[in-house]
Amino acid sequence: WAKDSNRNCVKSFDPNVADKDTTNDVVVEAIRTAIEQKRVTLAFQPIWSIESGRLFAAEALMRLTAPGGSPISPAVFIPVAERSGLIVELGAWAIREACGMLAANLALPRISVNVSAVQLLKSNFVELVDTTLRESRVSPARLAIEITEGLEIDEHAGIINAIDGLRTIGVNVWLDDFGTGFAGLSCLSKIKFDTVKIDRLFVQASETPRGAKLLKDIVGLVANSGQNIIVEGIETLEQCELLKGYGVSLLQGFYFNRPMSADALNLLLAKSSKLMVGAVAA
Ligand code: C2E
Ligand code: MG
Ligand code: MG
Ligand code: MG
Repeated sequence: WAKDSNRNCVKSFDPNVADKDTTNDVVVEAIRTAIEQKRVTLAFQPIWSIESGRLFAAEALMRLTAPGGSPISPAVFIPVAERSGLIVELGAWAIREACGMLAANLALPRISVNVSAVQLLKSNFVELVDTTLRESRVSPARLAIEITEGLEIDEHAGIINAIDGLRTIGVNVWLDDFGTGFAGLSCLSKIKFDTVKIDRLFVQASETPRGAKLLKDIVGLVANSGQNIIVEGIETLEQCELLKGYGVSLLQGFYFNRPMSADALNLLLAKSSKLMVGAVAA
């Protein structure tokens, strides 16, 4: 599975690291210097509405390089940043950066930013988002917060409060990696998300008839609960067609685009708006 191959990045990062504590210290140090030396960036991966052929959103994915310049996978540095508390600083930076991008690009409908539970449980998280949006003069409707299903989010009053707070200020709240965590269905019954992102695990499993049936049932279940659906991890035309057949319009994955630099996203936006203007003029 791709998630496991992600984890192997720790090996390519430092093959000599033997024990977990050392790895942790090395990564903490790498994060600190990356922040100092401004070697933290956001990559953006488009989410398409295949119905309209338009960009629905871009997901912001954090990128960080070691002093030597080699990239460290988020699968490695995000958990370390969460444990060390550095995620709070990184996360605040990501929201500011995303808002700057939105302010500079009116053609970009929205950006989704991934957020850790550690961040949500900080009492001032909603205020931070609100302030950043105001300072950047960006409409809250253009920002979405992706919360991963990885922990029992419906059991934490603090997380539920943060979700309520975000929705009150008009920010979208999406459930990420649906189907992989503990919360699952109970989570959907307690919290209304604007959009649920179905994990790519189910797309990969859809090669078999059983897997395809499961994906179809999950799509039906989320749709019936009145929440929008994004399916992530679309890698082939066949998968794209399959989801289209299930009535899912919002798709994301390597089949469409890899995560790209801000400049590359701007270029893509400029091109597609020209195409759109051309189509109207013709
Ligand atoms: P995620 O939010 O579920 O993001 C999707 C991951 O799948 C990304 O990996 C993306 O590059 C990858 N991906 C996208 N399309 C495909 C595809 O078609 N096939 C395959 N095999 N993979 C695809 P990435 O960038 O390595 O990020 C991994 C995870 O790290 C993210 O999962 C998210 O949970 C976390 N993460 C990334 N940036 C941030 C951040 O700024 N803050 C927090 N808290 N977490 C982040
Ligand atoms: Mg995500
Ligand atoms: Mg995801
Ligand atoms: Mg994930």
